[in-house]
Amino acid sequence: MYLYALRKQILLRNTGMYKLITLFFIVLSFSSFSQKVLDTLDIKEGTMVVYVNRTWEFIQDVNFDGVMNRRLHEEVVLNKDIGFIQTWDHDQCYTSGYSNDQNKLTDTIWMCLEGADLPDKFVKPADGIITSHYGWRHGRNHNGTDIDLNTGDAVRAAWGGKVRYSQYNDGGFGNLVVIRHYNGLETFYAHLSKLLVVPNQLVEAGETIGLGGNTGHSYGSHLHFEVRFYDIPIDSEKIIDYETQTVIDENLLVTKSLFRPGSHSSSSNTVASKSSSGGTYYRVRSGDTLGAIAGRNRTTVSKICQLNGIRPTTVLQIGKNLRVR
Ligand SMILES: [Zn+2]
Repeated sequence: MYLYALRKQILLRNTGMYKLITLFFIVLSFSSFSQKVLDTLDIKEGTMVVYVNRTWEFIQDVNFDGVMNRRLHEEVVLNKDIGFIQTWDHDQCYTSGYSNDQNKLTDTIWMCLEGADLPDKFVKPADGIITSHYGWRHGRNHNGTDIDLNTGDAVRAAWGGKVRYSQYNDGGFGNLVVIRHYNGLETFYAHLSKLLVVPNQLVEAGETIGLGGNTGHSYGSHLHFEVRFYDIPIDSEKIIDYETQTVIDENLLVTKSLFRPGSHSSSSNTVASKSSSGGTYYRVRSGDTLGAIAGRNRTTVSKICQLNGIRPTTVLQIGKNLRVR
């Protein structure tokens, strides 16, 4: 314990007494947990503590309150008329407890997406084409924009910010990274094959945060990319021009009309349909039968059932993508 503190003192002797004292108390508080420290590393994001169980975190962020845009926080969280909830949680992908209601946004709230005080500009998170848009799909809401990629391709942070969540999500996202940005938005990067960042880590726009994949509820490798305003999903194509890979306007005027009618912080569908690499998919149309689909695609009913985890008697849903090869 004493040696550990001493070592930190040597590492950080130039950063002032205040930090040293803070650090000492943090070390004290760590020691009250059963987590054993394996090592500490000084990297560009700060001092990282590595535990014996191979988890790690950044020391200076222990007391971080999650607020990246103070003005916005005052307008939508502290303002009692809106009263949105937002916490800094590493284990829940939505932090409002599904309670933030867009209908409370009766006035227009101005948000600066880029420019002035913000450190960087939008970078497209994956190289491929858009294979599925935000909106109504297969009788459910699709809250993201799907971008084609191959498993193993780099997935990049759309803007700079701080990683809030980086773990496997069993709600359908698979390996998921959530970044809270300086502008106040959050972005979600789902179905990754590999996570390359940890909670509390600072990232810059364009920094690789994971590798693309097909984990979770996904048929074929792709990136499911979401943009959320205090948990409520926004159509990323309303604010980003993917052709020019820039924001449409540095200023975003947030009103309830920005959001899909009826959309809510809780509405979630991470199901991906379109694919890239690998399989061939067929979109079920009215009147289709498994036998007819198999015949047209020169395969068998049992092969289609095997590829899709369905039975020959399964009722086909119109609009659903079936893997046929
Ligand atoms: Zn998607």
